[in-house]
Amino acid sequence: MTADRSLTEPMAAAGTSTIVADIAIVGGGLAGSLAAAVLARAGHRVALIDKRAIYPDEFRVEKIGGHQLELFRRLGFIRGLESVACPYDRVLNIREGKVVDVSVGQAYGLPYADLVAMARGQLPDPSSLIVDEVTAVKCSDDIQQIEIASGRRVSARLVVLATGMAGGLGYKLGIKRRVLAERHSVSFGFTIARRDGAPFDFEALTCYGEHTADGVDYLSLFPVPAGMRANLFMFRDPTDPIMRELRREPEATVLRLLPGLQPYLGDFRVTDRVQNWVMDLSVVEGHLQPGVVLIGDAFQTNCPAAGTGVARLLVDVERLCTEYAPRWLATEGMSRAKISEFYSDADKVAADQQSLKMARFRQALTSRNDIGWDVRRRLHFLRRSITHRVDQMRPGWLAHVRSALRA
Ligand SMILES: Cc1cc2nc3c(=O)[nH]c(=O)nc-3n(C[C@H](O)[C@H](O)[C@H](O)COP(=O)(O)OP(=O)(O)OC[C@H]3O[C@@H](n4cnc5c(N)ncnc54)[C@H](O)[C@@H]3O)c2cc1C
Repeated sequence: MTADRSLTEPMAAAGTSTIVADIAIVGGGLAGSLAAAVLARAGHRVALIDKRAIYPDEFRVEKIGGHQLELFRRLGFIRGLESVACPYDRVLNIREGKVVDVSVGQAYGLPYADLVAMARGQLPDPSSLIVDEVTAVKCSDDIQQIEIASGRRVSARLVVLATGMAGGLGYKLGIKRRVLAERHSVSFGFTIARRDGAPFDFEALTCYGEHTADGVDYLSLFPVPAGMRANLFMFRDPTDPIMRELRREPEATVLRLLPGLQPYLGDFRVTDRVQNWVMDLSVVEGHLQPGVVLIGDAFQTNCPAAGTGVARLLVDVERLCTEYAPRWLATEGMSRAKISEFYSDADKVAADQQSLKMARFRQALTSRNDIGWDVRRRLHFLRRSITHRVDQMRPGWLAHVRSALRA
């Protein structure tokens, strides 16, 4: 058993160049860093290895809300999140310049790098983070061996691969990625401000696409410490000239795609670099092996528009780190049979499937132009808009929602 060990116990050195841990986590993005903190807090000896000391300014998830918050709370990260992010609780949803409805519920906006730094900051012993590149992993039923670029080795009973979309290490183990939808979506991230320096009239706003041919699912505007962040999610050929226009002239191109936004934004400008991502939907194959388990994007990628990546990785972290890994470490060996328990966990399977289902739904709702989807699209927004109007007619609706939020 390892759970009763002191949190500050240093990892024992077997020889000068081998670090010994119970669990070695390769990849300290959100999934790996949260997993390391959960396991280390429970007293396991954890080595978290990432090639970068600080996660770079790369566009990934930038807002956390809804069910994700409950999972952050359950895993003990909610205070950490609140301390670095901008809170907001009302999102004005519009389409073709008209209000569809207002979403009410706590949410937080922040750069992904800050989210990862917060998760790494929850490690009880900062020396658990090894900044180096893992070059090879050898797995067995018993002890796993990791080689790192500096020439050192890590030996551990369990290896968690949380290497995100980078597939090189898994490939060496015979783990392949099956692409389910190539170039499934395109996402843009940038920060905006009004030219006159005045604040925007909304706390957060979502503007849905107007025409299927544009391929715009929605533009989400929400507060982050640096200002008003914009995430634009599209289902469109990434080689279309509009992509270059969005990078070069983001203000004019956004308004051309979403003219109904103009009165809400006024005269605005983009204040930082426009980042964009083209995303394949993929899932791994050949992953059921002794001694190693894959979590987060290393196991399955997500459609950013569906907003399911964080929920999936939180389920992975919660199930693996609070249920399976502690149980596996309590007995000898790290067989395939043990590892398969995690991959067949009902909550994990449901989260993975829901993510793929939502990815396909968002794409169809945005860009399918056959009669069936045209009707569904109209009904989707009509239903939301009617529900909103009925809610507004109820006396004290907003006061009720606000007091529920405070409770
Ligand atoms: C543009 C975009 C927008 C998104 N928006 C949303 C959203 O709104 N909502 C949502 O829920 N999800 C969203 N997602 C998905 C979400 O961001 C990801 O699911 C999540 O960040 C994955 O985290 P991860 O830890 O699995 O991978 P990553 O954060 O990619 O971490 C992988 C880590 O592994 C390290 N690494 C890789 N190889 C090695 C090696 N050999 N040695 C050492 N270290 C290594 C890397 O340095 C990195 O730190 C979005 C994704 C993108 C791309």
